[in-house]
Amino acid sequence: MTTIRIKENSLLAKCAARNLKSGSMALVLGSTIRLHNVTREEFLKDTKWVRHEVAHVKQFQQKGYLRFIVSYLLETFNFGYAHNRYELEARKKERDQYILDGVEFN
Ligand SMILES: [Zn+2]
Repeated sequence: MTTIRIKENSLLAKCAARNLKSGSMALVLGSTIRLHNVTREEFLKDTKWVRHEVAHVKQFQQKGYLRFIVSYLLETFNFGYAHNRYELEARKKERDQYILDGVEFN
Protein backbone atom coordinates (compact mmCIF):
# COMPACT_ATOMS: atom_id res chain seq x y z
CA MET A 1 0.00 0.00 0.00
CA THR A 2 1.33 3.40 -0.97
CA THR A 3 -0.08 6.46 0.77
CA ILE A 4 0.27 9.68 -1.17
CA ARG A 5 -0.26 13.09 0.33
CA ILE A 6 -1.82 15.86 -1.72
CA LYS A 7 -0.94 19.44 -0.89
CA GLU A 8 -2.93 22.26 -2.46
CA ASN A 9 -1.68 25.83 -3.03
CA SER A 10 1.95 24.80 -3.07
CA LEU A 11 4.45 27.60 -3.51
CA LEU A 12 6.98 25.20 -5.06
CA ALA A 13 4.44 24.07 -7.64
CA LYS A 14 3.68 27.72 -8.35
CA CYS A 15 7.37 28.37 -9.09
CA ALA A 16 7.51 25.30 -11.32
CA ALA A 17 4.39 26.43 -13.17
CA ARG A 18 5.98 29.80 -13.81
CA ASN A 19 9.14 28.13 -15.10
CA LEU A 20 7.28 25.82 -17.46
CA LYS A 21 4.76 28.54 -18.39
CA SER A 22 1.94 26.25 -17.36
CA GLY A 23 -1.42 27.32 -15.91
CA SER A 24 -1.98 24.55 -13.42
CA MET A 25 0.71 22.33 -12.09
CA ALA A 26 1.39 19.23 -10.07
CA LEU A 27 4.86 18.70 -8.65
CA VAL A 28 5.96 15.52 -6.90
CA LEU A 29 8.50 15.47 -4.09
CA GLY A 30 8.85 12.09 -2.44
CA SER A 31 5.33 10.84 -1.74
CA THR A 32 3.66 14.24 -1.80
CA ILE A 33 1.92 15.69 -4.84
CA ARG A 34 1.98 19.48 -4.64
CA LEU A 35 -0.65 21.35 -6.60
CA HIS A 36 -0.87 24.85 -7.99
CA ASN A 37 -4.00 26.38 -9.48
CA VAL A 38 -5.97 23.12 -9.33
CA THR A 39 -7.97 21.72 -6.42
CA ARG A 40 -7.51 18.25 -5.00
CA GLU A 41 -10.96 17.30 -6.35
CA GLU A 42 -10.25 18.55 -9.87
CA PHE A 43 -6.89 16.80 -9.88
CA LEU A 44 -8.26 13.45 -8.67
CA LYS A 45 -10.95 13.50 -11.37
CA ASP A 46 -8.28 13.61 -14.08
CA THR A 47 -7.23 9.96 -14.12
CA LYS A 48 -4.47 10.36 -16.70
CA TRP A 49 -2.95 13.20 -14.74
CA VAL A 50 -3.16 11.24 -11.46
CA ARG A 51 -1.48 8.21 -13.08
CA HIS A 52 1.29 10.48 -14.40
CA GLU A 53 2.06 11.93 -10.97
CA VAL A 54 1.79 8.54 -9.24
CA ALA A 55 4.41 7.29 -11.71
CA HIS A 56 6.74 10.02 -10.41
CA VAL A 57 6.05 8.97 -6.79
CA LYS A 58 7.08 5.44 -7.77
CA GLN A 59 10.24 6.77 -9.46
CA PHE A 60 11.16 8.45 -6.17
CA GLN A 61 10.60 5.17 -4.34
CA GLN A 62 12.61 3.13 -6.83
CA LYS A 63 15.68 5.37 -7.00
CA GLY A 64 15.64 6.94 -3.57
CA TYR A 65 14.83 10.56 -2.80
CA LEU A 66 18.12 12.35 -3.48
CA ARG A 67 19.32 10.06 -6.24
CA PHE A 68 16.07 10.60 -8.08
CA ILE A 69 16.20 14.39 -7.81
CA VAL A 70 19.81 14.51 -9.03
CA SER A 71 19.12 12.08 -11.85
CA TYR A 72 15.92 13.90 -12.86
CA LEU A 73 17.70 17.26 -13.00
CA LEU A 74 20.57 15.79 -15.02
CA GLU A 75 18.12 14.27 -17.50
CA THR A 76 16.36 17.61 -17.84
CA PHE A 77 19.66 19.44 -18.24
CA ASN A 78 20.91 17.00 -20.90
CA PHE A 79 17.77 16.26 -22.86
CA GLY A 80 15.24 18.93 -21.90
CA TYR A 81 12.07 18.54 -19.89
CA ALA A 82 10.00 16.88 -22.62
CA HIS A 83 12.66 14.26 -23.41
CA ASN A 84 13.66 13.58 -19.84
CA ARG A 85 13.32 9.79 -19.52
CA TYR A 86 11.34 10.10 -16.29
CA GLU A 87 8.80 12.26 -18.08
CA LEU A 88 8.67 9.85 -21.01
CA GLU A 89 8.01 6.99 -18.59
CA ALA A 90 5.37 8.94 -16.65
CA ARG A 91 3.62 9.83 -19.91
CA LYS A 92 3.55 6.18 -20.87
CA LYS A 93 2.13 5.28 -17.45
CA GLU A 94 -0.86 7.56 -18.08
CA ARG A 95 -2.33 4.59 -19.95
CA ASP A 96 -1.42 2.03 -17.23
CA GLN A 97 -4.74 1.00 -15.73
CA TYR A 98 -3.04 -0.83 -12.86
CA ILE A 99 -0.74 1.90 -11.60
CA LEU A 100 -3.30 3.15 -9.06
CA ASP A 101 -3.79 -0.29 -7.48
CA GLY A 102 -2.76 -0.20 -3.83
CA VAL A 103 -2.48 3.59 -3.86
CA GLU A 104 -4.45 5.75 -1.44
CA PHE A 105 -4.56 9.51 -1.09
CA ASN A 106 -4.82 11.47 2.10
ZN1 LIG B 1 5.84 14.58 -15.15
